[in-house]
Amino acid sequence: MSMLADPITRMQVWHAALPVKRPRDHGSGLVADKVEVIVLRIETRDGAYGWGEASPWAVFTGTAEANAAALQRYISPVVLGRSIGDVAAIMADADKAVVGHPEAKAALETALLDCMGRKSGLPVWALLGGRYRATIPLSVSLADPDFAADLDLMARIHAEKVNIIKLKTGTRDHKFDVDRLERLRRDYPELDIRVDYNQGMQPFEALRRLRDVEAFNVTFIEQPVPGHDRAAMAELKNALDTPILADESVFNPRQAVDAVRDRICDCISVKIMKCGGLRRGLEVAAIAEAAGMPAYGGDMFETGIAHLAGAHMIAAAPNISLGCEFYQARYYLEEDLLSAPFPIEDGHVAVPDGPGLGCDVDQDRLNHYALSAKDISAGPE
Ligand SMILES: [Mg+2]
Repeated sequence: MSMLADPITRMQVWHAALPVKRPRDHGSGLVADKVEVIVLRIETRDGAYGWGEASPWAVFTGTAEANAAALQRYISPVVLGRSIGDVAAIMADADKAVVGHPEAKAALETALLDCMGRKSGLPVWALLGGRYRATIPLSVSLADPDFAADLDLMARIHAEKVNIIKLKTGTRDHKFDVDRLERLRRDYPELDIRVDYNQGMQPFEALRRLRDVEAFNVTFIEQPVPGHDRAAMAELKNALDTPILADESVFNPRQAVDAVRDRICDCISVKIMKCGGLRRGLEVAAIAEAAGMPAYGGDMFETGIAHLAGAHMIAAAPNISLGCEFYQARYYLEEDLLSAPFPIEDGHVAVPDGPGLGCDVDQDRLNHYALSAKDISAGPE
């Protein structure tokens, strides 16, 4: 029997709450003290295993509770008993079993690929078609309600050679945004600055404000207006010199096709939690690439497990060339769930080349932060 024919016999699902160092205001929502994630572990009959993470955010993609239920009740019946090699078929059946819940599906595909990689000795990026890049420039987001705390963080990351930041804008008044941009540009003339409004403006006020923002030479302006307002996105793209990045406007390949057809943006943020997995993320990236657009490696509030999944995807995607924002495991959570530090060197994510995701999970720490845990096993054959 091929080693990839081995059946999946066990799924474990944890709902964990991880304390954060500082509050963050993203306009669409405030994260005050904890990040909630769902962690999935699958195991095959011969004892091989894989890890995955669902990182929903209630105001953006969905809830932790719903994603735990999606895995436990609706997705586990199409996973248990299946061969570990049947990733594409299992993912198609998961889509049929429950609508939506892209974060749960991202966790599932991550765990399947991690397990397949551990069994075969190959890193996940190899299973996705091979590597385009071994390191990914890291962007850290500045979103502290207290800008003085962000300046402290800025000094720290600058000393650690991070040269990209994303300023969360549109959370208060326009002056707060302009003042912060002025200060950052003055103190760090060479800094690669991006801004992200998280849909925070109405179209009537957006253009005048963004013309002010353009004066600070930002690399892109992310999702200035609500995701559904595609016409306003297109108008801003046409009116401004600075590229417009679509985040909330493009969750999945279907919306990427629409974005290309309607020319609503200059680049797209790819997140496995929006589209439901690494291969779907590569599809979004491929659509952007065919339209001549670069893409950006976005994330949600994640631990190192989901960061690793995203890093392997970006390693295999030539046009996800605008860097990534996998900073939470190192700079935001009090403690991560990986058993080794999430790999960041000289301001870049170093994509692991060990089997699977290339890093293990600290199960004691996971149990420590778990609000609940559920163990689902296949019945006797
Ligand atoms: Mg965003």
